[in-house]
Amino acid sequence: MTVKNFFKRNGLLTLSVISVITGCTLGFMLRGMIVLSLQAKIYFSFPGELLMRMLKMLILPLITSSLMSGLSSMESKACCRMGVLTVTYYLWTTFIAVVVGILLVIIIKPGVGTEMESNRLGGGPVMTSADALLDLIRNMVPSNLIEATFQQYKTDLIPILKVPTKTIQPNFVYVIPDDNDPKGRMVYLELTPPPDVIYKTSPGSSQQMNVLGIVIFSATMGLLLGRMGERGVPLINVCQCINECVMKIINAAVWYFPFGIIFLVAGKILDMQDPSTLGKKLGWYAVTVLTGLFVHGLVLLPLFYFLLTRKNPFSYIRGLLQAMVIALATSSSSATLPITMKCLLENCHVDRQIARFVLPVGATINMDGTALYEAVAAIFIAQVNDYELDFGQLVTISITATAASIGAAGIPQAGLVTMVIVLTSVGLPPDDITLIVAIDWILDRFRTMINVLGDALAAGIIAHLCRKDFPLSTAGKTPHKNSN
Ligand code: ASP
Repeated sequence: MTVKNFFKRNGLLTLSVISVITGCTLGFMLRGMIVLSLQAKIYFSFPGELLMRMLKMLILPLITSSLMSGLSSMESKACCRMGVLTVTYYLWTTFIAVVVGILLVIIIKPGVGTEMESNRLGGGPVMTSADALLDLIRNMVPSNLIEATFQQYKTDLIPILKVPTKTIQPNFVYVIPDDNDPKGRMVYLELTPPPDVIYKTSPGSSQQMNVLGIVIFSATMGLLLGRMGERGVPLINVCQCINECVMKIINAAVWYFPFGIIFLVAGKILDMQDPSTLGKKLGWYAVTVLTGLFVHGLVLLPLFYFLLTRKNPFSYIRGLLQAMVIALATSSSSATLPITMKCLLENCHVDRQIARFVLPVGATINMDGTALYEAVAAIFIAQVNDYELDFGQLVTISITATAASIGAAGIPQAGLVTMVIVLTSVGLPPDDITLIVAIDWILDRFRTMINVLGDALAAGIIAHLCRKDFPLSTAGKTPHKNSN
């Protein structure tokens, strides 16, 4: 392949990678040269914020139209088989990810012998496993669909993290404790003038779409529409039109992404805590998580793909690189969903009906990277506290980490919050998530890449396993026809 041909085929991907590198360089250069005020940082991050907004804008129409039009044209039997295979595969791979994480953290022992000081706030209410489970079920049944498009249910018992004001990010809810508050602990923070330390609540407690509720509602509608005969056709046609339009918008919007990525990445680096203050043990913890993600994402998942389809997993993964770069830049598998869909349809040639079902469901419940990280983090915190975990507790961690990853939303740092479930399940102090919060934003980017990769490989596998039900399915046969 000539250089010209390479750029013609992979132009957008190359631009996106260059943008990530440029964003890192620009971020580190500016950090070393000037101290930007909060206001200046908000202006500087604006092109990146626009990118996030564009992606988020597309999630709702993409999920609803994909599921409704996709499922309406499927036979009940095929639908049922695909649904069962998808959920089984997702649960299985998430569990394997957790086991990989547990094995690595036990072998590497990043937290043993640590003299780490925790930022425990003490006494505050925390989310228990039962609260989290109830939230998950509540989210499945949104009481108001319109509200579900902008709000995710989160119990009021959320962890509060202590953060320096210089790391304030626009998309989180910040609170300061207030004795006069009726709940006795918080009011929303007025940003001017900010105190030295404020408290950040879970990202889920800021307004986020309830993707799980929307997936369940749209899938049910899709299934029913397909059984309504002629009467359902007009609505199915509307959904198909919306779906086509969304894909066209995505095709146009992607050309803005390289520009937005530069500022998204640079803005994040400007906010970053000084890496030299992080300490050796936290470094080993990061190495453990990254090794686990690498083993799971680039060894085990491709191996499953190969064993189940007998096709080359790496040529399939090549078609997904664009989505993985966006996952790295945005830290959000939900926001990356439009691009993952585009890559699957255009580069990997997965059957439309399958991609339209497997991807939105995966972006909601399948988070291998998050599950792996939750298990590693919980055991790391136990090691830091010199707390011996017996086999039964390890089993509890593996089950709760799987459940916590299912409950996590596909948004930045959601896993940090649901990890409280894992910690409380084995009696570890939930406030100790403050030990790992400083490097969470960077690990989040890598685990989001694996979350996205897991969903996309699943779509290829399900397409292969269901090929008799969907004869047009050609997953993996002709990747890279058009990498853009
Ligand atoms: N950021 C991850 C995602 O969007 C979730 C997490 O692990 O925090 O997939």
